[in-house]
Amino acid sequence: MNRLSADVVVVGSGIAGLSAALRAKSETQVVIVTKGKLEEGNTRYAQGGIAAAWFPDDSPTLHESDTSEAGDGLCDPAALRIMCEEAASRIADLLSYGVPFDQEGPGFARGLEAAHSVARILHAGGDSTGAFIESALVRAVHDATIPCRERSFVTDLIVSKGRVVGLRLLDEDGAPTEVSANAVVLASGGAGQVFLHTTNPTVATGDGVAAAHRAGAEIADMEFFQFHPTALAMPGTAPFLISEAVRGEGAFLLDRDGRHFLLDVHPQAELAPRDVLARAIVAQVASQDGEPVVLDVTHLGSTRLRSRFPRIDAHCRALGLDWAREPIPVTPAAHYSMGGIVTDTFGRTSLRGLYACGEVACTGVHGANRLASNSLLEGIVFGVRVGASLSKGDKAWDKSDTLVGSLRATLPPVAPGLPGFETGALLDPALEPGSERSPATSLREAIRTLTWAKVGLIRDGSGLSEAAARLAAWEATLPEPTGISDLEDANLLRVARLVTEAALLREESRGAHFRSDFPMSSPAWERHIVFEPPTAPNPAASADKTESRLAVP
Ligand SMILES: Cc1cc2nc3c(=O)[nH]c(=O)nc-3n(C[C@H](O)[C@H](O)[C@H](O)COP(=O)(O)OP(=O)(O)OC[C@H]3O[C@@H](n4cnc5c(N)ncnc54)[C@H](O)[C@@H]3O)c2cc1C
Repeated sequence: MNRLSADVVVVGSGIAGLSAALRAKSETQVVIVTKGKLEEGNTRYAQGGIAAAWFPDDSPTLHESDTSEAGDGLCDPAALRIMCEEAASRIADLLSYGVPFDQEGPGFARGLEAAHSVARILHAGGDSTGAFIESALVRAVHDATIPCRERSFVTDLIVSKGRVVGLRLLDEDGAPTEVSANAVVLASGGAGQVFLHTTNPTVATGDGVAAAHRAGAEIADMEFFQFHPTALAMPGTAPFLISEAVRGEGAFLLDRDGRHFLLDVHPQAELAPRDVLARAIVAQVASQDGEPVVLDVTHLGSTRLRSRFPRIDAHCRALGLDWAREPIPVTPAAHYSMGGIVTDTFGRTSLRGLYACGEVACTGVHGANRLASNSLLEGIVFGVRVGASLSKGDKAWDKSDTLVGSLRATLPPVAPGLPGFETGALLDPALEPGSERSPATSLREAIRTLTWAKVGLIRDGSGLSEAAARLAAWEATLPEPTGISDLEDANLLRVARLVTEAALLREESRGAHFRSDFPMSSPAWERHIVFEPPTAPNPAASADKTESRLAVP
């Protein structure tokens, strides 16, 4: 076993981790560890841009109210205010790191996206905002000589006396290594790979949430997983995002008869909230025997499409699609996890010594549904706040005002007698849309197929119960891991269980969570579901903030 030590270890090299490291570096010794290349993660794929009240006809208050509206009653007011108020300063930071936001005339170009009441999205390289931000931050990290360990896979946190004191990882040669640290910052991103169809890259396997749950940190809002309505639907290729900004520029969705079907669905049509659009597309596809709906942007013309969306344009053309001449097939895909490790507004978690920021965290800013282009913003605002907090020393977290009334849950024990997963096991045909009864060749495929079918866009009690039982049985019979892929599978399983159990508990529909057996939202559910540690809670995570306690049956 190799041993290392550092003041602070930051796990993850997306916008959140790099921002935290850059802010903390001035006062403390920081090391970044990341499981792939430094640039890999959701950040570099972000297309549409970053939201901020930057222009004179906008204000943090307006941004706050749009975000809160999308969040459907569950946004954390304190965190939300901070995010919107600090947005302009963080955009200034990005400019100082050299991010070349697109210009229009004398000022910045401004994009409009769904559910924003004004155009406030700053973008770079047309539709390559994330790539420009990521490379600017990576440059800044190198300039600041912050040590980075690439291809280092964090497996677990080390907890001693209720405090995180380091982590375990497999280094680039696969050698087990223990890193002791005064503080660990989890900035390990999302978990889109838990679903069969996702816009997320392969690194997004929910490792941070799973490790934090095993270590005893509180996890909340896991039932709220956002499905993006428009990913390119090309058989045999991973879903490629067609940014919301394309709809913001005037694209519209057509059914197989060329009808603009969203006009019957929502007054804002293509600019309605993502969950509304995604479900409308699923319903439309079902009513046309599985034929995909298409996105028509032909009226913008090839010159505009190539200059405004160069990356999407190139991708379509590489697949032989000319979207300037004909509409392209699109489908919803899992995109963003609103839930995660519960943090206060300085990224402190319920476990002392553990901080979280970015998509892995649940600050509560997104509530039940994220407003487009708010996640890069959340990553940098709270990444910087974590960095600042680290330099101020170790204080206990402060979530006292926001978790009042939350429903406390624990993962249930496994029901006896259910079969574990066996390679080649047949999946229920209902789990594989449009296919014959087919064998699952891997546990990962089985997990992802099951969640897509039973825990996806449209859920119900019986499907969720079935998924919950299967996932629990698979987790109980997991073989000893023999490598990183097995460890990721275990993490995907844990995340899938948290999403499923929370979705089963929440007997209503709200934001991104839709239950066909409870299609309305209920005032009684205007609260969070918080998972407590599987075993004895740590002393820092006091339970006296709760009003009710429910163990999942
Ligand atoms: C296609 C796409 C388009 C998007 N468009 C937008 C947009 O226009 N605007 C917007 O605001 N948001 C957008 N998003 C969402 C946004 O990109 C992400 O939410 C955000 O970038 C997350 O940043 P992060 O730093 O939290 O995580 P990430 O950027 O995902 O970084 C996570 C890091 O953690 C590392 N890691 C993970 N597990 C481990 C482990 N076990 N050990 C070590 N390291 C680990 C990863 O390798 C990675 O470096 C988009 C997302 C996608 C996928």
